[in-house]
Amino acid sequence: MSSIEIVRCESNQLRFLAYNTFCEILLRDEDAQQGLWEGAIEIAEQIRRMLDAYDEMSELSALRKAETGQPVRISDELFKLLHTLLAACAASKGAFHIALGGLSKLWNFASDHPQCPDPQRISKLLQQSRLESVLLDETQKTVTFLQDGIQLDIGAAGKGYAAGRLAAYLRAAGVGSASVNLGGNLCLLGSGPRQGRWAVGVQQPWDRRGLTLGTLYLDAGQSVSTSGGYDRFFIQNGKVWHHLLDPRTGYPVENGPLGCTVVCSDALLGDVLSTTLFVGGEACLRSVAELLCPQSKVGYVRVEADGTVEISPELENVFCPAWES
Ligand code: AMP
Ligand code: MG
Repeated sequence: MSSIEIVRCESNQLRFLAYNTFCEILLRDEDAQQGLWEGAIEIAEQIRRMLDAYDEMSELSALRKAETGQPVRISDELFKLLHTLLAACAASKGAFHIALGGLSKLWNFASDHPQCPDPQRISKLLQQSRLESVLLDETQKTVTFLQDGIQLDIGAAGKGYAAGRLAAYLRAAGVGSASVNLGGNLCLLGSGPRQGRWAVGVQQPWDRRGLTLGTLYLDAGQSVSTSGGYDRFFIQNGKVWHHLLDPRTGYPVENGPLGCTVVCSDALLGDVLSTTLFVGGEACLRSVAELLCPQSKVGYVRVEADGTVEISPELENVFCPAWES
């Protein structure tokens, strides 16, 4: 059963709810050909069936039943994705970490009344979250968990992956210019409306949705991804507990930035990199980018804990701060 809910379907715009978020595909100056939206929903649903952490039947969730030490054959697509993500984990020295599924579930940020978990349970699950316990076999296309209790969580990359796949689908279908926005993970296809460029607002962290700290003017083919504690959090004992976990402690990253926005030419990597920058800092972002997208320019806007805004050199000429406009 599809759990993707179509909200609006018009000649140049498709809006739907998926991946726990609001999604939109907007064609800039053309109408959808017959079957275009059906094809897009099919792809979105196929990716959901592969990755949905909330669906016990998804391919990723089914891996929880894998017996320790027993290789499990997975689809070529999931294999390729996990291969890329594990390379990112290694290059970030574990700051980007796809084996935190047990901890994410324990914190349960998506629930109605999340609460700080018992510290003993956190440390137990942390011990069961070792990246070295996830083995991939390239020839057999299998994954093996060498430890009990390993649970993969690729929430930090799934929407970027889906955005990239949907943009590739639109391109292959002959669409000239469109934006794909999956809960703030943006993929821009073709030229934009501002002298060929796209204007993309960067969210002011912890402020009203849509209130931006500046605008990025981007060329065709760029993707934009943002990670921030304000995205999912709760307050307990006067303290904010947010969903971006420090894999060394099992607790939310302390004293981290308020928000990180990454621009790069690959939507999946953009999503990986914004989480990496938030959790591990710039050195981690650079080593992941160097390994996985050495050809492409990667830039970022980072709002530090004290509210100062850092613009990386790659974006200096394309970022227009709200305080200057
Ligand atoms: P994003 O909004 O793309 O930064 O992804 C946030 C999601 O990534 C969280 O809700 C968790 O599911 C997952 N996550 C939390 N901490 C980490 C981490 N250190 N590395 C990778 N994924 C994480
Ligand atoms: Mg991410």
